[in-house]
Amino acid sequence: MFDFRITAKDPHSSARSGRFETPHGILETPLFAPVGTRATVKALTPRDLYELGASLVLANTYHLYLRPGTDLIQDAGGLHGFMGWSKPILTDSGGFQVFSLALMRKIDADGVTFRSQIDGSLHRFTPESAIAAQEALGADIIMCLDECAEPLDRDYNEAALARTHAWAARCKAAQRRADQALFGIVQGGIFPDLRKASASMLRGLDFPGYAIGGLSVGETKDQMYATLDVTVPELPAFRPRYLMGVGAPEDILEGVARGVDLFDCVLPTRVARNGGLLTGRGRMNLRNAQYAADPLPIEPGCACYACQHFSRAYLRHLFKAGEILGLHLATIHNLHFELQLMREIRMHISAGTFTAFKAQFLAEYRLPDQESRHAQRARYAQRLRERDNR
Ligand SMILES: [Zn+2]
Repeated sequence: MFDFRITAKDPHSSARSGRFETPHGILETPLFAPVGTRATVKALTPRDLYELGASLVLANTYHLYLRPGTDLIQDAGGLHGFMGWSKPILTDSGGFQVFSLALMRKIDADGVTFRSQIDGSLHRFTPESAIAAQEALGADIIMCLDECAEPLDRDYNEAALARTHAWAARCKAAQRRADQALFGIVQGGIFPDLRKASASMLRGLDFPGYAIGGLSVGETKDQMYATLDVTVPELPAFRPRYLMGVGAPEDILEGVARGVDLFDCVLPTRVARNGGLLTGRGRMNLRNAQYAADPLPIEPGCACYACQHFSRAYLRHLFKAGEILGLHLATIHNLHFELQLMREIRMHISAGTFTAFKAQFLAEYRLPDQESRHAQRARYAQRLRERDNR
């Protein structure tokens, strides 16, 4: 179990394709995992996800631990039975959400105490309890408890990394189930020496897979790519590599080119619910007046159900009228776009044409305004700092 076999390598980059065996099926990599935060990919059924060709779905331990509770899900047959999804599932440890969502948090060497953002109740995660919660949920891939620090803060990253490393060893020791692959998470912000030290320490613990955490949380894209440049080569080539929380099309291509195998992100499903549609020419805002009477599909030539049956004018109407079908169809299109991108990436890696494909895709794909994105991320990081100082 958890055999990872590399099936093709791109001759002009570090991109590779592979097959990762899990108890609920083989994952073809590189792959994108839709996010089902509360054991549901918002606005879709598992049947929709099968039809879209999704292979791996992510669920959040923090949210499910708070509501409805991990014991309840275990009694209901684990996450697979509870949410009616028979293919592989990945759960995160809950650490990231404690650091980004909880109303209050206090970290010590042994774990983190926090208040639920749902009802203010007091809770505590330790490496052992994070593993126990994920063993109750029963996903195929589970994650070590880690501390996600603000990426540009050197002192904080050093302190957080010491805890993340100690917790990784304790998570490994706490694991009881042999049918779950526990991944270690490399942290260290944008600091090359910390990233290398983190990869080296985790490599020593011999995990069946390695995640790169703490990116896409406030640094620029160039800083993220530079961090991947120094981190990925430090990870074992024969294990899957997972870039957490990253899923913009341009970032997936840059990540794949650097040797990343797994991605997850709320981006395609979240922007869909705001009327943001991913197309080969960039992101399109369906709410714009220019689409009011537009008879074309979202993306001409797209094979998804939404594009095969409906016009931009109809979809815009659904959004303007607040009809839930709009959320469903927009989500279908965006996930189809991401999963189709991954199929093309795998095909081009096998054919040895990935680098040319990447260049052509990026030449046609208009990026959202970088400055406004960065400003948005910086505001988010600032809010977190203000909260922590309260
Ligand atoms: Zn479509």
